[in-house]
Amino acid sequence: MTPRSIIERVEELRILLNNAAHAYYVLDEPLINDSVYDRLYKELIDLEGKHPELKTSDSPTQRIGGEPVERFQRVRHRVPLFSLDNVFSFEEFASWHKRLNKTLQGKINREKLSSEASMVAELKIDGNALALTYQDGILLRAATRGDGEEGEDITTNVRTISSIPLRLLIKDPPPWVEVRGEAFMPDAVFSRINLEREGRGEVLFANPRNACAGTLRQLDPQVVASRGLDFFAYTVHLSPDLNSRDDSFLNLTCQWEALSWLKRVGFKVNPHAAFIQNLDQVRAFSNKWASDRDQLPYATDGLVIKVNDFSLQSSAGFTQKAPRWAIALKFAAEEVPSKLIRITFQVGRTGAVTPIAIFEPVLLAGTSVSRATLHNADRIADLDLCSGDTVVVRKSGEIIPAVVRVLKELRPSFAKRLIIPNQCPECFSELERELGKSVTRCMNTACPAILRGVLRHWVSKSSLDVEGFGTKLIHQLVASSLVHSIADLYRLDLHALTSLDRMGPKSASNLISSLDASKKQPWHRQLYGLGIDHVGAVNAKSLAKKFQNSDQLSSAVSNNFDAVQSISGIGPEIASSLKEWFSKDSNQKILFDLKEVGFSLGKVDVLEKASAHQEDLPKPLEGRTFVLTGIMNSLNRNQAEILIEEAGGKVSSSVSSKTDYLVAGNKTGNKRIKAERLGIRIIDEIGLMDLLNPDSPISH
Ligand code: NAD
Repeated sequence: MTPRSIIERVEELRILLNNAAHAYYVLDEPLINDSVYDRLYKELIDLEGKHPELKTSDSPTQRIGGEPVERFQRVRHRVPLFSLDNVFSFEEFASWHKRLNKTLQGKINREKLSSEASMVAELKIDGNALALTYQDGILLRAATRGDGEEGEDITTNVRTISSIPLRLLIKDPPPWVEVRGEAFMPDAVFSRINLEREGRGEVLFANPRNACAGTLRQLDPQVVASRGLDFFAYTVHLSPDLNSRDDSFLNLTCQWEALSWLKRVGFKVNPHAAFIQNLDQVRAFSNKWASDRDQLPYATDGLVIKVNDFSLQSSAGFTQKAPRWAIALKFAAEEVPSKLIRITFQVGRTGAVTPIAIFEPVLLAGTSVSRATLHNADRIADLDLCSGDTVVVRKSGEIIPAVVRVLKELRPSFAKRLIIPNQCPECFSELERELGKSVTRCMNTACPAILRGVLRHWVSKSSLDVEGFGTKLIHQLVASSLVHSIADLYRLDLHALTSLDRMGPKSASNLISSLDASKKQPWHRQLYGLGIDHVGAVNAKSLAKKFQNSDQLSSAVSNNFDAVQSISGIGPEIASSLKEWFSKDSNQKILFDLKEVGFSLGKVDVLEKASAHQEDLPKPLEGRTFVLTGIMNSLNRNQAEILIEEAGGKVSSSVSSKTDYLVAGNKTGNKRIKAERLGIRIIDEIGLMDLLNPDSPISH
């Protein structure tokens, strides 16, 4: 008997995907991202494959596209328009190819197969399929794909697309020919139209494909003409009999010849198609376009790889929805669904408790991802996250993965709302949350998790840069009670270190040398290493410039608060945080102990001079160009600029193809639209902080 949980999941997936498909195909207003749709669709196919008894005729896996809308006359296609099956990696493509060859081997002789098994790889244009019927060489009718059997007659609109010939450039045209291809909206047009819509306060189009579909269904052809749609042709049919492909009239025997013919008779054919003879060529073609597609002036979402020879295509045939002789190899997704397994809570060096979502591993932007920070209790509440939820995870380029939303439609009946616990997961002391703040903290200064965080920060590259102290070693040192404070690190001797698991005398002596060397690090690094709230590497440098040592700084924060606040980049928040830190006895003890083990906690003339001419702070943003837009929550524009520039980055005022990141706050406008069009990475304030501080909780 089929388990109840599977029956429920299949039913929920079906409802969600059917709603999404209606919003996408009929209303042109997608509810979810395409890659999320694709993954859920694949999950449904897999479940239906394993449990055929659950397959129903209303399943989205049994249907192509959406219902034709009533505004246009329905057209019955003489040759049905199919969809394409998808694969999501080269390995999946290779398995598909193997299966295809097996099918073909059963049908035709082996020599014929090996001599004619070449393929054609084309870019998968992210637009809308059109079927163009030419009678005696004249465009008679243009139709959308619709549900594959019936589409909408949009001839008047299609006539306004200048790259579609109204008459074929051929002397003796065939009496009936149908050209298939993809209508699309170029990126530049998409941005322009969305800008205009924004100006008029209208809803923006979600992506060029939906903008194109919406335009093709306009009732006023003038509007269509003004929208600058374009078209790439990719196939031709002479016979309404799908399986016979009787294209002898044109002497066409394969896809490669069909593309040339289309070009000859006046169509625009995408210039990037490649003739493929082995799998390595597919891999190379796919790698090339996965990165180069950003430079194309139109959207592509993958490759379409087709068997070249028409007679082999006929032998392979069709499934209910798609040809067996072609496949879409989709580019790496940046947003996919995954099942939440649990939340873990990580206690950082400030005691802040960060919830981390652990979900089933998913391939995102080319890497496998299974965890993402949820930041704090407010974020969990905003997401309305429950146990067993299906979440949407996003990662673009090198940006840290994030849970962007929950698919509530797929919430299981046992789901329970998730919250931050009352007790510290490490030391079990009561957690506290300050009124009006989003952070929950463990206040126990002896909490081993806090100590580990403090030590990790102290030894990190941007602080004291103590070589050899990885997360594992710090764990061991704290767990074995050899270290209770930063100063304790400097009290370790060979005997203590070699008592640790897998620690030989050589490694132990190297660690002691690294610790000794770290005592010579400049004053501003020592200050940053203390991990005072809000005092980042840049602020530590400004403070260290103004105050010669920790005593001067300590006295200034208690006696001359204004002098501290007046330093560029140091606002009231940082000044208050310093005041609070220096006022605590436990922190004064940290300073005392550090001096005792040999730290200057101040400027040492010779050393500081020697390093004065070299920029000794790490430059994580070296060579990157940023553009800032919108209103940020905790940084002002000036502060963000200083932070980026101090970290080696450049801030530019306008978005161009040279921009690496757009840092977007609230209320963004044209810069964001332009960045989206150019495929520039868009990050928020938290994303910027993550880039500035590679020691964020997730990277450990
Ligand atoms: P598809 O777009 O994945 O692939 C089939 C289409 O590819 C063809 O109909 C053709 O129009 C097009 N194509 C582009 N270049 C081509 C080329 N060179 N050769 C041949 N065909 C080419 O399939 P589909 O059935 O049109 O739509 C399914 C896709 O639509 C899903 O994979 C999903 O990404 C998206 N979708 C999204 C949602 C959503 O909610 N976001 C809902 C439904 C569908």
